[in-house]
Amino acid sequence: MKTARVIPLVQQRPAGPLLPEHSPGTFADAAGLVRDQMARPLRDLRISVTDRCNFRCSYCMPKEVFDQHHRYLPQSDLLSFEEITRVAARFVELGVRKIRLTGGEPLLRRGIETLVAQLAALRTPQGEVLDLTLTTNGALLSRKAQALRDAGLQRITVSLDGLDDAVFRSMNDVDFPVAEVLQGIDAAVAAGLGPIKVNMVVKKGCNEGQILPMAQHFKGTGVALRFIEYMDVGSTNGWRMDEVLPSSEVLALLRSAHVLHPVAGTHSGETAERFVHAGALGQADATLGEIGLISSVTRAFCADCNRARLSTDGRLFLCLFASQGIDLRALLRQGASNEALRQAVASAWYGRDDRYSELRSQLPTAHAPSGQRIEMSYIGG
Ligand code: SF4
Repeated sequence: MKTARVIPLVQQRPAGPLLPEHSPGTFADAAGLVRDQMARPLRDLRISVTDRCNFRCSYCMPKEVFDQHHRYLPQSDLLSFEEITRVAARFVELGVRKIRLTGGEPLLRRGIETLVAQLAALRTPQGEVLDLTLTTNGALLSRKAQALRDAGLQRITVSLDGLDDAVFRSMNDVDFPVAEVLQGIDAAVAAGLGPIKVNMVVKKGCNEGQILPMAQHFKGTGVALRFIEYMDVGSTNGWRMDEVLPSSEVLALLRSAHVLHPVAGTHSGETAERFVHAGALGQADATLGEIGLISSVTRAFCADCNRARLSTDGRLFLCLFASQGIDLRALLRQGASNEALRQAVASAWYGRDDRYSELRSQLPTAHAPSGQRIEMSYIGG
């Protein structure tokens, strides 16, 4: 039997420091900001607040794996809101300017508004407000939108994998109706949680027929619609390259029905290639809403990835495709000082050289490279 060739997905770094010297033990530069081994700043923190979800999307939490026997993290393992806020404050001191709440499904975490209010009160060392957002499957959004806004949430991203009710129900695999998610989006718009982003994961053979209906539905609504390539996240979704519809083909399909103008990125670390619709005279018209393509498989964006991830049980992960994390909860519960927490985060980030998608794209891969990667339902997208 041909043994699988294991290719190490670690960067063969040249010897010697890549970055300007930093004062011993601080890992941060003169401005107090920390950069990793590829000089990427720590800018974006994704916090998973629960490993539970009320959907069973096959590309993230396949039902046959996450079945009635699946054991979720016990409550005592989860970081409390106070612990999350204390850790998040250290990240902000080191350069984080954007916090995204994820899951599982974050709106399942009881009292999530309380956490939102605590995080919304954080300020940068310069006294600035953070960009505080949340990603949800929208199932509970119509009930929660206003309370989240009142608590200080600024924006929201809704995952929606199709408009056709039958396709949507098969994608979430719990027979949840699309109408309720669309009502949730309307409630978020009414609550002022805009600009709303809608993310659609495209899985070939499942929902690519929804690309044009989604683009038409959200055109003119001001919603930014993003199409995400199906990724080999975790180790349970049975990922195959032939189920990936490359963004280049998604764009070609969109352009068969719409005139789209490319838009320049606004900041480093942006994951989407952005386009706006043409207006009546053919000019770029941002008021008609945006279309984005997130191409982790065919056009990796690791070069300026500035995202760290905190799991719901307090582990720091440096990449969506990581297999190991740094246990910050242990430090917290051992009574570590804020300085010790900051050092732990700074040294982890300083030593980071992750670029999984970039390395994967150099592999002739039909199936996911081997290795036990963390589940997206545990760490958030
Ligand atoms: S694969 Fe890892 S390093 Fe690359 S963009 Fe994704 S999270 Fe960042």
